[in-house]
Amino acid sequence: MSSLTILGATGSVGRSTLKLVRETPGRFRIAALAGGRDADALAALARELKPGFVAIADPASGARLADLLDGSGIANGAGPSAVIAAAQWPADMVVAAISGIAGLVPTVAAFGAGRRVAVANKECLVAAGAFFMAEAKRTGTELLPMDSEHNAIFQALSAAPAAHVEKVTLTASGGPFRTATLDEISRAGPQDALRHPNWSMGAKITIDSATLMNKGLELIEAHHLFSLPPERLEAVIHPESVIHGLVAFRDGSVVAGLAVPDMCVPIAHCLAYPERMETTCRRLDLARVGRLTFEAPDLERFPALRLAISAMEAGGSAPTVLNGANEVAVAAFLAGRIGLLGIAAIVEETLAQTATGDAPASVEAAMACDSDARAIAHSLLPKFAAKAS
Ligand code: MG
Repeated sequence: MSSLTILGATGSVGRSTLKLVRETPGRFRIAALAGGRDADALAALARELKPGFVAIADPASGARLADLLDGSGIANGAGPSAVIAAAQWPADMVVAAISGIAGLVPTVAAFGAGRRVAVANKECLVAAGAFFMAEAKRTGTELLPMDSEHNAIFQALSAAPAAHVEKVTLTASGGPFRTATLDEISRAGPQDALRHPNWSMGAKITIDSATLMNKGLELIEAHHLFSLPPERLEAVIHPESVIHGLVAFRDGSVVAGLAVPDMCVPIAHCLAYPERMETTCRRLDLARVGRLTFEAPDLERFPALRLAISAMEAGGSAPTVLNGANEVAVAAFLAGRIGLLGIAAIVEETLAQTATGDAPASVEAAMACDSDARAIAHSLLPKFAAKAS
């Protein structure tokens, strides 16, 4: 039986992971769980799965969690230090599925010799990619990509040594505004943007998918995870979301990873790696899918992707700034304070107001750079405020 810790247990990836755990009794023991602020959901999971430790990130929800677990004998804590304690709890594998930059410190805290960390949190690779990869290497941590595109690419890369890779392609569904005009995109509200055609995910990543910032963040994620220079990475729009990633080798061969658009598949791959586990994940039925189509991304209607590619090419602290500004802007959009195009506008202006420094060489440096970017982005919100309609 292998022991598993889930950081972000009450989120979308956390819940899908636990579904697989329940379907394979006797295969996994839950070591620790960490959640954001839903004490009731977290306590219910803890009572069911009986981990050694449970952490809730929101300090204000700690008393509620402790009350709910009273008499259960399950140790628990609240706040950032408790989440770090959960990350460091003895376990064979840690699923890092906290959303946003908030996942950086706990994910790095989970690193340790002989440990496997399945990375679903892309922001830690965007904001501190060089440090993150160096730290994984230094600590002897094995990283497994859980993001669907990166998981497909990881699997395809096993076809030949890295030296033979010519190009790596990530697909993007194109989101709910793939065929929308710039004017329609400018008028889209949170409810329109949260209506993703193929994937069911958390709010932050769903908005990132609507602006295509998600694909930009994923290019930066792939750049670090697979040590590939920006010119060997590209994104293509593929509305059916059946092919998730492709690796082209120097002889012209292309190996692609296909599956239904459901996180069940990459999660199962990571959980069982290097073996394979039986799952009830939906199966791909190509005859039913019928057609697979592709188009180049439109960087004019989706400026966020253009900004992310530029930040990847610029390197240094630019991706950290991009990510911090984007998180502030996405939260403001979800709160109805700015329009959808305001997100890229705020990211662009934050980057313009920030001198590109060195890539963060520590978690502290990444968090400081993130915090500076957030302050600038916040100060820009009034300038891009949505007009009251
Ligand atoms: Mg993805």
